[in-house]
Amino acid sequence: MLYEHKRQTLADSLKYDFIIIGAGIVGLSTAWQLARQSGGSRILLLEKETGPAQHQTGHNSGVIHAGVYYEPGSMKARFCSEGSRATYDFCNEHRVGCRKTGKLLVATEPDEIPRMKQLFERCRENGLEPRMLGQGKLQDLEPAITGLDAFLVEESGIVDFPGICDVMLEQFLELGGTARFAHEVTAISEHSDQIEVHTAQGTFSASCLVACAGLMADRIAMLQGLDIDFRTIPYRGEYYRLRGELNKLISHLVYPIPNPSVPFLGVHLTPMVNGSITVGPNAVQGWKREGYGRVNFNLHDTSQILSFPGFWKVSAANLKHGIGEYRNSLWKSAYLAKIRKYCPRLKASDLEPYPAGVRAMAVTRDGKMVHDFLVKETPRSVHVCNAPSPAATSAIPIGGHICKLLSQRRAG
Ligand SMILES: Cc1cc2nc3c(=O)[nH]c(=O)nc-3n(C[C@H](O)[C@H](O)[C@H](O)COP(=O)(O)OP(=O)(O)OC[C@H]3O[C@@H](n4cnc5c(N)ncnc54)[C@H](O)[C@@H]3O)c2cc1C
Repeated sequence: MLYEHKRQTLADSLKYDFIIIGAGIVGLSTAWQLARQSGGSRILLLEKETGPAQHQTGHNSGVIHAGVYYEPGSMKARFCSEGSRATYDFCNEHRVGCRKTGKLLVATEPDEIPRMKQLFERCRENGLEPRMLGQGKLQDLEPAITGLDAFLVEESGIVDFPGICDVMLEQFLELGGTARFAHEVTAISEHSDQIEVHTAQGTFSASCLVACAGLMADRIAMLQGLDIDFRTIPYRGEYYRLRGELNKLISHLVYPIPNPSVPFLGVHLTPMVNGSITVGPNAVQGWKREGYGRVNFNLHDTSQILSFPGFWKVSAANLKHGIGEYRNSLWKSAYLAKIRKYCPRLKASDLEPYPAGVRAMAVTRDGKMVHDFLVKETPRSVHVCNAPSPAATSAIPIGGHICKLLSQRRAG
């Protein structure tokens, strides 16, 4: 009898209203907002690592994007502009490191000038107030930077994304949420009355599941048996850091005019909130989803990538760009040449090693990169299938959007 009672209590304690997978910034923002909005709800956050922000959220450029590049009206554009305001407000309220540095977009080749002007217009369409500079004003603002022309976006800045995650986690726990780290989700079964989430440490059940698994988004969706036509393909972003004596080299973010055919922004100079300056990231094919050191290979990840037809199609379509990026990855001199286009005083000895990041990019079976956020739903789950840059900037509105989807279900 006593044993039965204990078993019942244990089962109850594993039953939740919501389970969230992933303690990156998207999962944490969702958990934090859900706990604030649905007082009394039992919410469980499951994360396979021993702490928050161990993957994309903790291996990125730390930039608060203002919304320069994104298709007006897209979820990306909307969430980015809401997200940048919300991120500054959050950091000011909770004393997380952030600074509005402004961002320079610098054209260094004549054929970049028309693209620069298009980006300038796009900024305006996205509600920003960019300022055209010309060579003279560019040199006044940043004496180490040269270019044919440039414009300034004052709203862009830098931030400590893991610091935001720490605050969100702390508040989530204070609001009564439960977080289980070192709990890797290994299976999911959806039933008409509940959803069960299995880990090596036990099975948890809830009314609803939210999956924010970043680089593992496709695997988590498939664990639940979702019929998805994309795979999460890893694109590695390799960085250097400028040697400490150059920490005052620039005060703004300095970006090139990006190649419009790929969703990557080009190798940029980024002042970080800790005072250092990073250079990067490039965008090379990743062969390991969560690999940040020099070794870019995992057999399981690689065989999954190679067996997906969409990978071959997207790679063929971007072959020239891909080969160029490999060259920059293999030879520091080729990488340096990219930066020297707008910062000619830099030498190879100025670049010190810095950990890489790995971007999660949904690619469809027919070989298209999914540029916008992608969410898939089942009766008892919401899966964030694609949350590429600027999803760290946009995490607060993305979390808000997911909460809205959940509350519509409850109301319905
Ligand atoms: C190189 C690089 C530069 C970038 N620069 C910027 C930038 O400057 N500004 C910006 O706004 N965005 C930037 N981004 C994009 C941004 O970092 C990501 O869009 C954002 O961090 C995604 O957050 P996330 O929570 O979805 O994913 P993640 O941070 O990857 O978190 C996913 C979490 O899910 C967990 N998980 C996965 N599988 C399981 C499982 N089976 N069980 C339990 N837990 C699991 C993982 O361990 C991880 O903690 C950059 C990204 C990269 C890679």
